[in-house]
Amino acid sequence: MNSILLKPGREKSLLRRHPWVFSGAVEKVTGNPQSGETVDVLDSNRQFVARAAYSPSSQIRARVWTFNPDETLDADFFRRRIVAAIEKRTTLGLPTVTDALRLLHAESDGLPGLIVDRYGETLVLQSLTAGSEFWRETLADLLLEATGCSTIYERSDADVRELEGLAPRSGLLRGSLAAPTLQITEYGLKFLVNIETGHKTGFYLDQRANRKRVGELAHGRDVLNCFCYTGGFSVHAAAGGAKSVLSVDTSGDALTLGRENMALNGITAEGLDWSDADVFTALRKFRDQNRSWDLIVLDPPKFAPTAAQAEKAARGYKDINRLAFKLLRPGGILATFSCSGGIDAGLFQKIVASAALDAGVEAQIVETLTQGPDHPVSIHFPEGAYLKGLVCIKG
Ligand code: SAH
Repeated sequence: MNSILLKPGREKSLLRRHPWVFSGAVEKVTGNPQSGETVDVLDSNRQFVARAAYSPSSQIRARVWTFNPDETLDADFFRRRIVAAIEKRTTLGLPTVTDALRLLHAESDGLPGLIVDRYGETLVLQSLTAGSEFWRETLADLLLEATGCSTIYERSDADVRELEGLAPRSGLLRGSLAAPTLQITEYGLKFLVNIETGHKTGFYLDQRANRKRVGELAHGRDVLNCFCYTGGFSVHAAAGGAKSVLSVDTSGDALTLGRENMALNGITAEGLDWSDADVFTALRKFRDQNRSWDLIVLDPPKFAPTAAQAEKAARGYKDINRLAFKLLRPGGILATFSCSGGIDAGLFQKIVASAALDAGVEAQIVETLTQGPDHPVSIHFPEGAYLKGLVCIKG
Protein backbone atom coordinates (compact mmCIF):
# COMPACT_ATOMS: atom_id res chain seq x y z
CA MET A 1 0.00 0.00 0.00
CA ASN A 2 1.28 3.44 -0.90
CA SER A 3 1.56 5.66 2.11
CA ILE A 4 2.84 8.96 3.41
CA LEU A 5 4.46 9.03 6.82
CA LEU A 6 4.13 12.38 8.57
CA LYS A 7 6.71 14.08 10.76
CA PRO A 8 5.92 14.05 14.47
CA GLY A 9 3.05 16.40 15.35
CA ARG A 10 2.25 17.20 11.71
CA GLU A 11 -1.06 15.31 11.83
CA LYS A 12 -2.63 18.12 13.91
CA SER A 13 -4.39 19.97 11.10
CA LEU A 14 -5.67 16.66 9.72
CA LEU A 15 -7.14 15.76 13.10
CA ARG A 16 -9.07 19.02 12.79
CA ARG A 17 -10.22 17.69 9.41
CA HIS A 18 -8.41 20.22 7.28
CA PRO A 19 -7.90 18.33 4.00
CA TRP A 20 -4.37 19.36 2.97
CA VAL A 21 -0.97 17.75 3.63
CA PHE A 22 1.88 20.16 2.90
CA SER A 23 5.20 18.86 1.56
CA GLY A 24 7.02 20.07 4.69
CA ALA A 25 4.94 17.76 6.87
CA VAL A 26 6.02 14.63 5.00
CA GLU A 27 8.73 12.44 6.53
CA LYS A 28 8.69 9.68 3.95
CA VAL A 29 6.72 8.32 1.01
CA THR A 30 6.43 4.54 0.88
CA GLY A 31 5.61 2.56 -2.26
CA ASN A 32 5.69 4.29 -5.57
CA PRO A 33 2.52 6.37 -5.82
CA GLN A 34 1.94 8.02 -9.20
CA SER A 35 0.38 11.45 -9.58
CA GLY A 36 -3.18 11.35 -8.24
CA GLU A 37 -3.01 7.84 -6.83
CA THR A 38 -4.45 7.06 -3.44
CA VAL A 39 -2.16 6.99 -0.42
CA ASP A 40 -2.78 6.38 3.26
CA VAL A 41 -1.55 9.22 5.44
CA LEU A 42 0.04 7.91 8.66
CA ASP A 43 1.12 9.80 11.74
CA SER A 44 4.66 9.35 13.09
CA ASN A 45 3.41 6.32 15.08
CA ARG A 46 2.19 4.81 11.81
CA GLN A 47 -1.43 5.21 12.80
CA PHE A 48 -3.96 5.91 10.03
CA VAL A 49 -4.99 9.56 9.81
CA ALA A 50 -6.53 9.92 6.35
CA ARG A 51 -6.75 8.54 2.82
CA ALA A 52 -5.66 11.05 0.21
CA ALA A 53 -4.68 11.78 -3.37
CA TYR A 54 -0.94 12.06 -3.90
CA SER A 55 0.34 15.08 -5.75
CA PRO A 56 4.12 14.83 -6.29
CA SER A 57 4.70 18.27 -7.85
CA SER A 58 2.56 20.42 -5.59
CA GLN A 59 3.44 22.05 -2.29
CA ILE A 60 0.12 20.55 -1.21
CA ARG A 61 1.52 17.04 -1.43
CA ALA A 62 -1.75 15.24 -0.70
CA ARG A 63 -5.44 16.13 -0.47
CA VAL A 64 -7.74 14.10 1.70
CA TRP A 65 -10.57 12.08 0.20
CA THR A 66 -11.67 10.52 3.50
CA PHE A 67 -10.79 10.38 7.19
CA ASN A 68 -12.57 7.04 7.51
CA PRO A 69 -10.14 4.08 7.46
CA ASP A 70 -12.94 1.76 6.32
CA GLU A 71 -13.83 3.82 3.26
CA THR A 72 -12.38 2.46 0.01
CA LEU A 73 -11.61 4.76 -2.89
CA ASP A 74 -13.73 3.45 -5.75
CA ALA A 75 -16.66 4.47 -7.94
CA ASP A 76 -19.09 3.93 -5.05
CA PHE A 77 -17.17 6.39 -2.91
CA PHE A 78 -17.40 9.09 -5.58
CA ARG A 79 -21.05 8.27 -6.29
CA ARG A 80 -21.89 8.86 -2.62
CA ARG A 81 -20.12 12.22 -2.58
CA ILE A 82 -21.69 13.40 -5.84
CA VAL A 83 -25.22 12.35 -4.86
CA ALA A 84 -24.89 13.99 -1.43
CA ALA A 85 -23.74 17.28 -2.99
CA ILE A 86 -26.59 17.33 -5.50
CA GLU A 87 -29.15 16.52 -2.78
CA LYS A 88 -27.94 19.49 -0.73
CA ARG A 89 -28.54 21.86 -3.64
CA THR A 90 -32.05 20.50 -3.95
CA THR A 91 -32.64 20.90 -0.19
CA LEU A 92 -31.63 24.56 -0.57
CA GLY A 93 -34.26 25.05 -3.26
CA LEU A 94 -31.71 26.25 -5.78
CA PRO A 95 -33.11 24.37 -8.78
CA THR A 96 -36.37 26.29 -8.33
CA VAL A 97 -34.72 29.70 -8.85
CA THR A 98 -32.19 28.82 -11.52
CA ASP A 99 -31.14 26.15 -13.99
CA ALA A 100 -27.48 27.15 -13.64
CA LEU A 101 -25.75 26.16 -10.45
CA ARG A 102 -22.58 24.71 -9.00
CA LEU A 103 -23.08 21.03 -8.20
CA LEU A 104 -19.63 20.35 -6.78
CA HIS A 105 -17.49 22.90 -5.00
CA ALA A 106 -14.25 20.98 -4.59
CA GLU A 107 -12.88 20.64 -1.02
CA SER A 108 -16.10 22.03 0.45
CA ASP A 109 -18.08 19.14 -1.05
CA GLY A 110 -15.46 16.56 -0.05
CA LEU A 111 -13.96 16.32 -3.54
CA PRO A 112 -10.71 18.33 -3.61
CA GLY A 113 -9.92 19.90 -6.96
CA LEU A 114 -13.23 19.09 -8.63
CA ILE A 115 -15.62 21.78 -9.74
CA VAL A 116 -18.77 20.93 -11.67
CA ASP A 117 -21.29 23.53 -12.79
CA ARG A 118 -24.62 22.71 -14.37
CA TYR A 119 -25.93 24.96 -17.15
CA GLY A 120 -29.34 23.59 -18.08
CA GLU A 121 -28.71 20.11 -19.44
CA THR A 122 -24.96 20.61 -19.87
CA LEU A 123 -22.29 20.06 -17.25
CA VAL A 124 -19.01 21.94 -17.21
CA LEU A 125 -16.22 20.22 -15.32
CA GLN A 126 -13.03 21.75 -14.02
CA SER A 127 -10.38 19.42 -12.64
CA LEU A 128 -7.67 21.32 -10.79
CA THR A 129 -5.63 18.70 -8.94
CA ALA A 130 -3.77 15.46 -9.51
CA GLY A 131 -6.42 13.52 -7.60
CA SER A 132 -9.42 14.76 -9.55
CA GLU A 133 -7.40 14.23 -12.73
CA PHE A 134 -6.67 10.60 -11.82
CA TRP A 135 -10.38 9.82 -11.35
CA ARG A 136 -11.59 11.97 -14.28
CA GLU A 137 -13.17 9.22 -16.40
CA THR A 138 -14.93 7.61 -13.43
CA LEU A 139 -16.16 11.01 -12.28
CA ALA A 140 -17.48 11.84 -15.76
CA ASP A 141 -19.52 8.62 -15.91
CA LEU A 142 -20.89 9.11 -12.40
CA LEU A 143 -21.86 12.71 -13.11
CA LEU A 144 -23.95 11.69 -16.11
CA GLU A 145 -25.57 8.94 -14.03
CA ALA A 146 -26.37 11.28 -11.13
CA THR A 147 -27.71 14.20 -13.17
CA GLY A 148 -29.33 12.60 -16.22
CA CYS A 149 -27.36 15.04 -18.39
CA SER A 150 -25.61 13.68 -21.47
CA THR A 151 -22.99 16.35 -22.15
CA ILE A 152 -19.92 17.29 -20.15
CA TYR A 153 -17.62 20.03 -21.38
CA GLU A 154 -14.24 20.24 -19.69
CA ARG A 155 -12.70 23.59 -18.72
CA SER A 156 -9.56 22.40 -16.98
CA ASP A 157 -7.67 25.44 -18.23
CA ALA A 158 -7.04 27.28 -14.97
CA ASP A 159 -3.47 28.36 -14.20
CA VAL A 160 -3.41 26.52 -10.85
CA ARG A 161 -3.11 23.20 -12.69
CA GLU A 162 0.51 24.10 -13.40
CA LEU A 163 1.28 23.80 -9.68
CA GLU A 164 0.02 20.21 -9.87
CA GLY A 165 2.19 19.45 -12.89
CA LEU A 166 -0.88 19.25 -15.11
CA ALA A 167 -1.21 20.75 -18.58
CA PRO A 168 -4.31 22.79 -19.38
CA ARG A 169 -7.09 20.89 -21.09
CA SER A 170 -10.48 21.88 -22.46
CA GLY A 171 -13.00 20.29 -24.79
CA LEU A 172 -15.86 17.83 -24.88
CA LEU A 173 -15.56 15.09 -22.29
CA ARG A 174 -18.92 13.37 -22.88
CA GLY A 175 -21.79 13.82 -25.35
CA SER A 176 -22.10 16.61 -27.87
CA LEU A 177 -22.62 20.33 -27.93
CA ALA A 178 -24.76 22.03 -30.58
CA ALA A 179 -23.25 25.45 -29.87
CA PRO A 180 -20.83 26.87 -27.27
CA THR A 181 -23.36 29.47 -26.13
CA LEU A 182 -26.11 28.18 -23.85
CA GLN A 183 -29.08 30.01 -22.39
CA ILE A 184 -29.77 29.88 -18.68
CA THR A 185 -32.38 31.44 -16.40
CA GLU A 186 -31.64 33.06 -13.04
CA TYR A 187 -34.51 34.42 -10.95
CA GLY A 188 -36.59 34.66 -14.12
CA LEU A 189 -33.93 36.53 -16.12
CA LYS A 190 -32.24 34.94 -19.09
CA PHE A 191 -28.51 34.93 -19.78
CA LEU A 192 -26.31 33.62 -22.57
CA VAL A 193 -23.26 31.74 -21.32
CA ASN A 194 -20.33 30.76 -23.51
CA ILE A 195 -18.93 27.65 -21.84
CA GLU A 196 -16.00 27.34 -24.25
CA THR A 197 -14.50 30.80 -23.90
CA GLY A 198 -16.27 32.39 -20.94
CA HIS A 199 -14.51 33.10 -17.65
CA LYS A 200 -14.29 30.27 -15.11
CA THR A 201 -16.84 27.75 -16.44
CA GLY A 202 -18.73 30.48 -18.28
CA PHE A 203 -20.70 32.48 -15.69
CA TYR A 204 -20.12 33.91 -12.22
CA LEU A 205 -22.63 31.66 -10.50
CA ASP A 206 -21.34 32.70 -7.06
CA GLN A 207 -22.87 36.19 -7.47
CA ARG A 208 -26.42 35.00 -8.25
CA ALA A 209 -28.12 36.18 -5.04
CA ASN A 210 -26.11 39.41 -4.98
CA ARG A 211 -27.19 40.24 -8.53
CA LYS A 212 -30.80 39.79 -7.41
CA ARG A 213 -30.22 42.06 -4.42
CA VAL A 214 -28.68 44.77 -6.59
CA GLY A 215 -31.69 44.45 -8.91
CA GLU A 216 -33.97 45.17 -5.94
CA LEU A 217 -31.90 48.18 -4.89
CA ALA A 218 -31.68 49.64 -8.40
CA HIS A 219 -35.25 50.93 -8.78
CA GLY A 220 -35.27 54.52 -9.99
CA ARG A 221 -31.52 54.86 -9.71
CA ASP A 222 -28.68 55.72 -12.06
CA VAL A 223 -26.43 52.66 -11.91
CA LEU A 224 -22.74 52.25 -12.74
CA ASN A 225 -21.66 48.60 -13.04
CA CYS A 226 -17.86 48.27 -13.01
CA PHE A 227 -16.25 45.01 -14.19
CA CYS A 228 -19.62 44.05 -15.68
CA TYR A 229 -18.53 40.90 -17.60
CA THR A 230 -21.65 39.75 -19.52
CA GLY A 231 -23.92 42.18 -17.71
CA GLY A 232 -25.17 40.04 -14.81
CA PHE A 233 -25.64 42.96 -12.41
CA SER A 234 -26.64 45.26 -15.29
CA VAL A 235 -29.55 43.10 -16.47
CA HIS A 236 -30.83 42.64 -12.91
CA ALA A 237 -30.55 46.40 -12.30
CA ALA A 238 -32.35 47.29 -15.54
CA ALA A 239 -35.06 44.70 -14.91
CA GLY A 240 -35.40 46.11 -11.39
CA GLY A 241 -36.31 49.50 -12.81
CA ALA A 242 -33.01 51.39 -12.86
CA LYS A 243 -33.24 54.81 -14.50
CA SER A 244 -29.98 54.20 -16.38
CA VAL A 245 -27.20 51.59 -16.38
CA LEU A 246 -23.64 52.19 -17.55
CA SER A 247 -21.61 48.97 -17.70
CA VAL A 248 -17.81 48.96 -17.94
CA ASP A 249 -15.44 46.12 -18.80
CA THR A 250 -12.25 45.58 -20.81
CA SER A 251 -13.52 42.43 -22.50
CA GLY A 252 -15.17 43.20 -25.84
CA ASP A 253 -16.62 39.67 -26.05
CA ALA A 254 -18.18 40.00 -22.61
CA LEU A 255 -19.73 43.35 -23.52
CA THR A 256 -21.18 41.92 -26.72
CA LEU A 257 -22.83 39.13 -24.74
CA GLY A 258 -23.97 41.72 -22.18
CA ARG A 259 -25.84 43.67 -24.86
CA GLU A 260 -27.38 40.43 -26.14
CA ASN A 261 -28.43 39.53 -22.59
CA MET A 262 -30.27 42.83 -22.23
CA ALA A 263 -32.10 42.26 -25.51
CA LEU A 264 -32.87 38.65 -24.59
CA ASN A 265 -34.83 39.94 -21.60
CA GLY A 266 -36.70 42.44 -23.73
CA ILE A 267 -35.00 45.37 -22.02
CA THR A 268 -34.64 48.07 -24.62
CA ALA A 269 -35.01 51.21 -22.53
CA GLU A 270 -32.97 54.32 -23.12
CA GLY A 271 -30.01 54.86 -20.85
CA LEU A 272 -28.35 51.47 -21.22
CA ASP A 273 -24.73 52.11 -22.13
CA TRP A 274 -21.70 49.85 -22.42
CA SER A 275 -18.14 51.04 -22.23
CA ASP A 276 -15.08 49.06 -23.30
CA ALA A 277 -12.67 50.64 -20.85
CA ASP A 278 -10.28 50.03 -18.00
CA VAL A 279 -12.18 50.73 -14.77
CA PHE A 280 -9.21 52.40 -13.04
CA THR A 281 -8.96 54.92 -15.90
CA ALA A 282 -12.71 55.27 -16.45
CA LEU A 283 -13.43 56.14 -12.80
CA ARG A 284 -10.80 58.92 -12.93
CA LYS A 285 -12.32 60.25 -16.14
CA PHE A 286 -15.81 60.25 -14.59
CA ARG A 287 -14.44 62.11 -11.57
CA ASP A 288 -12.83 64.74 -13.81
CA GLN A 289 -16.14 65.09 -15.69
CA ASN A 290 -18.02 65.56 -12.39
CA ARG A 291 -20.33 62.64 -13.16
CA SER A 292 -22.25 60.94 -10.38
CA TRP A 293 -24.43 57.88 -9.71
CA ASP A 294 -26.95 56.57 -7.17
CA LEU A 295 -25.72 52.97 -7.19
CA ILE A 296 -22.24 51.71 -8.06
CA VAL A 297 -21.24 48.04 -8.33
CA LEU A 298 -17.57 47.08 -8.07
CA ASP A 299 -16.94 43.41 -8.83
CA PRO A 300 -13.30 43.23 -9.92
CA PRO A 301 -11.37 40.07 -10.82
CA LYS A 302 -9.23 38.33 -8.23
CA PHE A 303 -6.46 40.84 -7.43
CA ALA A 304 -4.90 38.53 -4.78
CA PRO A 305 -5.27 34.78 -5.35
CA THR A 306 -3.10 34.15 -2.26
CA ALA A 307 -2.08 36.13 0.83
CA ALA A 308 1.32 36.87 -0.78
CA GLN A 309 -0.26 39.32 -3.22
CA ALA A 310 -2.50 40.93 -0.56
CA GLU A 311 -0.62 44.19 -0.21
CA LYS A 312 -0.58 45.12 -3.88
CA ALA A 313 -4.17 43.94 -4.20
CA ALA A 314 -5.20 46.09 -1.24
CA ARG A 315 -3.96 49.17 -3.09
CA GLY A 316 -6.07 48.23 -6.12
CA TYR A 317 -9.21 47.70 -4.05
CA LYS A 318 -8.67 50.91 -2.14
CA ASP A 319 -8.20 52.90 -5.34
CA ILE A 320 -11.44 51.83 -7.00
CA ASN A 321 -13.48 52.06 -3.78
CA ARG A 322 -12.15 55.54 -3.05
CA LEU A 323 -13.09 56.73 -6.54
CA ALA A 324 -16.51 55.04 -6.31
CA PHE A 325 -17.27 56.75 -2.99
CA LYS A 326 -16.45 60.07 -4.63
CA LEU A 327 -18.70 59.37 -7.62
CA LEU A 328 -21.68 58.43 -5.46
CA ARG A 329 -24.38 60.97 -4.75
CA PRO A 330 -25.26 61.52 -1.09
CA GLY A 331 -27.50 58.63 -0.02
CA GLY A 332 -26.10 56.56 -2.88
CA ILE A 333 -25.33 52.86 -2.58
CA LEU A 334 -22.01 51.12 -3.14
CA ALA A 335 -22.08 47.34 -3.66
CA THR A 336 -18.43 46.38 -3.50
CA PHE A 337 -16.91 42.90 -3.79
CA SER A 338 -13.66 41.02 -3.49
CA CYS A 339 -13.20 37.42 -4.64
CA SER A 340 -9.53 37.30 -3.59
CA GLY A 341 -8.75 34.30 -1.41
CA GLY A 342 -5.74 36.24 -0.11
CA ILE A 343 -7.89 38.97 1.44
CA ASP A 344 -10.26 37.98 4.22
CA ALA A 345 -13.51 39.69 5.17
CA GLY A 346 -11.91 41.69 7.99
CA LEU A 347 -9.16 43.07 5.79
CA PHE A 348 -11.59 43.86 2.99
CA GLN A 349 -13.75 45.88 5.37
CA LYS A 350 -10.67 47.81 6.54
CA ILE A 351 -9.70 48.57 2.94
CA VAL A 352 -13.17 49.90 2.14
CA ALA A 353 -13.15 51.95 5.37
CA SER A 354 -9.84 53.56 4.50
CA ALA A 355 -11.13 54.22 0.97
CA ALA A 356 -14.08 56.12 2.45
CA LEU A 357 -11.74 58.03 4.73
CA ASP A 358 -9.51 59.07 1.83
CA ALA A 359 -12.54 60.05 -0.22
CA GLY A 360 -13.65 62.21 2.69
CA VAL A 361 -17.08 60.59 2.95
CA GLU A 362 -19.20 59.09 5.72
CA ALA A 363 -20.64 55.70 5.00
CA GLN A 364 -22.47 52.86 6.69
CA ILE A 365 -22.32 49.17 5.98
CA VAL A 366 -25.93 48.12 5.65
CA GLU A 367 -25.49 44.57 4.36
CA THR A 368 -22.72 42.01 4.08
CA LEU A 369 -22.86 39.62 1.16
CA THR A 370 -21.11 36.39 0.31
CA GLN A 371 -20.95 33.56 -2.24
CA GLY A 372 -24.15 31.66 -2.97
CA PRO A 373 -25.12 28.47 -1.14
CA ASP A 374 -24.08 26.30 -4.08
CA HIS A 375 -20.54 27.47 -3.20
CA PRO A 376 -20.59 26.15 0.38
CA VAL A 377 -17.69 26.44 2.81
CA SER A 378 -16.72 23.26 4.61
CA ILE A 379 -16.59 24.13 8.29
CA HIS A 380 -13.08 22.64 8.40
CA PHE A 381 -11.85 24.44 5.30
CA PRO A 382 -12.08 28.21 5.78
CA GLU A 383 -10.14 28.72 2.53
CA GLY A 384 -13.43 27.83 0.82
CA ALA A 385 -14.84 31.26 1.76
CA TYR A 386 -13.53 33.66 -0.84
CA LEU A 387 -16.28 36.04 -1.95
CA LYS A 388 -16.93 39.06 0.24
CA GLY A 389 -19.35 41.86 -0.44
CA LEU A 390 -20.36 45.03 1.39
CA VAL A 391 -23.35 47.19 0.66
CA CYS A 392 -22.59 50.70 1.89
CA ILE A 393 -24.71 53.82 1.95
CA LYS A 394 -22.93 57.12 1.55
CA GLY A 395 -23.82 59.59 4.29
N1 SAH B 1 -19.95 41.01 -12.06
C1 SAH B 1 -19.78 40.01 -13.09
C2 SAH B 1 -18.44 39.29 -12.96
C3 SAH B 1 -17.21 40.17 -12.99
S1 SAH B 1 -15.75 39.31 -13.33
C4 SAH B 1 -20.96 39.06 -13.07
O1 SAH B 1 -21.77 39.09 -12.13
O2 SAH B 1 -21.09 38.28 -14.01
C5 SAH B 1 -14.57 40.52 -13.54
C6 SAH B 1 -14.60 41.24 -14.89
O3 SAH B 1 -13.62 42.28 -14.85
C7 SAH B 1 -14.26 40.44 -16.13
O4 SAH B 1 -15.30 40.55 -17.04
C8 SAH B 1 -12.99 41.11 -16.73
O5 SAH B 1 -13.02 41.18 -18.13
C9 SAH B 1 -13.09 42.48 -16.15
N2 SAH B 1 -11.85 43.25 -15.96
C10 SAH B 1 -10.67 42.82 -15.46
N3 SAH B 1 -9.81 43.85 -15.30
C11 SAH B 1 -10.48 44.96 -15.71
C12 SAH B 1 -10.15 46.35 -15.76
N4 SAH B 1 -8.96 46.79 -15.34
N5 SAH B 1 -11.09 47.20 -16.20
C13 SAH B 1 -12.29 46.77 -16.62
N6 SAH B 1 -12.67 45.47 -16.58
C14 SAH B 1 -11.77 44.59 -16.13
